[in-house]
Amino acid sequence: MQKEYDVIITGGGLAGLTLSVQLKRAKPEISILVLESMAAAAPTAAHKVGESTVELATYYMREVLGIKDYLDEFELPKQGLRFFFRTETKQDISERVELGPYNRLKVPSHQLDRGTLENYLAKLTQELGTTLITGAKAKQVDLQAEMHEVTYEKDGKEYTAKTRWVADATGRASLLKRKLKFQKPMDHATNSVWWRLKGEIDINDWSENEKWKTFLEPKIRYLATVHFMDKGYWLWVIPLGSKNTSIGIVAHPDFHAFEDINTYEKALVWLQKNEPLAYKMLQPRGEGEGLLDFRVLKHFAHDSGEFYSTDRWGVTGEAGAFLDPLYSPGSDFISMNNTWLSDLILRELAGEDISIRTSVYQQSHRSHLENWITIYQNKYALMDSAQIMLVKICWDWAIYWAVPCLLFTNKGFTNLKVAKELFAADDSTGRKFGELNKAMQELFIAWHPFENKIFKNSYIDPFDVTCIRNFQLEMETQFAPKQLTEKISENVKTLEKIAAEIFRVVSHQVKGTDLRMNVDPYAISLENENKERHLHGLAYDASIAADINSIVLANKN
Ligand SMILES: Cc1cc2nc3c(=O)[nH]c(=O)nc-3n(C[C@H](O)[C@H](O)[C@H](O)COP(=O)(O)OP(=O)(O)OC[C@H]3O[C@@H](n4cnc5c(N)ncnc54)[C@H](O)[C@@H]3O)c2cc1C
Repeated sequence: MQKEYDVIITGGGLAGLTLSVQLKRAKPEISILVLESMAAAAPTAAHKVGESTVELATYYMREVLGIKDYLDEFELPKQGLRFFFRTETKQDISERVELGPYNRLKVPSHQLDRGTLENYLAKLTQELGTTLITGAKAKQVDLQAEMHEVTYEKDGKEYTAKTRWVADATGRASLLKRKLKFQKPMDHATNSVWWRLKGEIDINDWSENEKWKTFLEPKIRYLATVHFMDKGYWLWVIPLGSKNTSIGIVAHPDFHAFEDINTYEKALVWLQKNEPLAYKMLQPRGEGEGLLDFRVLKHFAHDSGEFYSTDRWGVTGEAGAFLDPLYSPGSDFISMNNTWLSDLILRELAGEDISIRTSVYQQSHRSHLENWITIYQNKYALMDSAQIMLVKICWDWAIYWAVPCLLFTNKGFTNLKVAKELFAADDSTGRKFGELNKAMQELFIAWHPFENKIFKNSYIDPFDVTCIRNFQLEMETQFAPKQLTEKISENVKTLEKIAAEIFRVVSHQVKGTDLRMNVDPYAISLENENKERHLHGLAYDASIAADINSIVLANKN
C-alpha cells in the first residue's frame, strides 16, 4: 500500500530542510517526506552559495528551528557586513573608505558552511521523525482534491507517494512553477561567479599599516562578510567554519560582461584589473591552499506568480523568488516564506479554513518582494560612489531592522490583526513605509550625477549612528500585538525623520537649499521642488541631523 504523508517536500536543500524542521518543531506528530535528488552527503565548503546570514534568518535558525547550539559550535560568529569603497588605485586597503563595526556585535549572525549545515539539518530532521529519501528525484506532482500524488525516481525505479500538502523546494529546478506555469521574470539583470579556496584568508593581513591592523577588536575583519565595491560590482570574501574561504563577484552586465568573468581564468584577469590587491591576495599559494570549485550564475533574479495555494501546495526558497545577494537576504526570504507556508499547512491540517490567510500571506510576500527589489534595481550604477553607497547602506539597514526584522521576531507576519492594522488602509503605516523607501531609492539615483568625489582614509562604524544602532538592538524585543504595531509606527516615524535629514543634506549639496528647512519625506525629489508640501513637513531634528552628519564623508576629510 502507498504510504500517505501530511506533507511531501520536494527538494532537501536549505529551504526544504528548514521547512521540515520548522513543521516538526511546531507539531512533532506531523508526517513529512523529503525527497532530495542528491544521493551523497554534501561536501564541505564547495557545496552551495548562500553562506552569510543576517539577523532575520539568524533569529529563525536559532530561535524558531532551535539550532543555536549547532550554530555556535560548528559555524562562525559573523561580525556584520563590511564594505570597502572605491579609491584611486585600490593597492592599499588601509586607505579605502571602510564601513563596518569596531566591536563584536550583540545581535548574532553567522557565516555558514552550506555543506556542513545541510548535512546537519538532514540528520536533525530525521531525528525529529521526518522521512528523508536521498537520491530521489521528484518527477511529477498530481494535484488532487483529497490527496496529491508525487512520483519520484530512485535507483532507476519509479515510486508514488500520497500527501495532503506539497511544498516545492527544488530551488532553481522549480518543479511546481514549471508544471503550473507561474514563472515570472524579475527586472534585475545581475550575474555572479564564485569559488571556494582551501584555507583561511584574513583581509586584516592585507596591509602593513600597523595602526589600521590593530584599531579594531581582534578578528572582526576576518569574521565579516567583506565587500569590495566599485562601479557595477561588488566582490565578496566570506570565511567558512570549515576553515576555507568563499569568494564571489556580483556584477551588473551594463558595466561588466558576464563573458568577462565566467571562467576562473577570466575572473582572475577581471580581478587584476578591478581589484588588484584582492587579485594578489586571493591566489592560492602553495600547500594547504587551492581552488575547491568555480561556479557561475547568469541573471539570478527571478520572481514567482504564486507562492501559496488553498489547493494545499506552496513554493519556498529559490523555487519561488530570488532578488540579489547584496546584504545576504536569501535565507531571510526562506525564513519568511517557510513561516507563512508552515502556518498555512498547520492550520489546514487542524481543519481551519485557510482561504483568507492564503490570500493575505500571498499579498504580504508580494509586497515585501516589491519593496525590497527597489533596493537593487538600478543601484549597481551607484556603486562607484562611496558617499552615496554609505548613506544608502545605512538607510537599507535601518529599514530592514526597523520593520521586517521586528515584525518577524514578534510573529507579526502571521498575525492577521497586525497585518490588517499595518497594511490594509491606503494610508497605513506599512504602505507608507513602502512609499518612503521607494522615494529614498529614487533619491539615491538622482543624487548620483552630483556626487562623484573619491574619498579615502575614512572609517565609519554604522553602530555609532544612534538611530541605526537602536533599530538593530531592539529587533528582538518582544511586544504584545498592539504594542508591536505602535512600535512599528514609531519606527516608521523615525525613518521619516532620517529620510527628511538625508534629503536636507543632498538637496543642500545639489541645490543649495537650507540645511534646516522643513521636509515632507513623501515629497522628496531633486526634480520637483514641492515647496508647498515641504513647508508643512517635518522640522529639523538636531539629534537625527548629528547621526546623518556622521556618515557624510566631506565632514571627515
Ligand atoms: C550569487 C549568490 C549569492 C548568495 N549569497 C547568499 C548569502 O550570502 N546568504 C543567503 O542567505 N543567501 C544567499 N544566496 C541565496 C541562497 O543561495 C539561496 O537562498 C538558497 O541556497 C536557496 O535554497 P533552496 O533550498 O531554495 O535551493 P537549493 O539550495 O538549491 O536546494 C534545492 C534542492 O532541491 C534539490 N532538487 C532539485 N530538483 C529536485 C527534484 N526534482 N527532486 C528532488 N530534489 C530536487 C537539489 O538537489 C537541491 O538540494 C545567494 C544566491 C546567489 C545566487
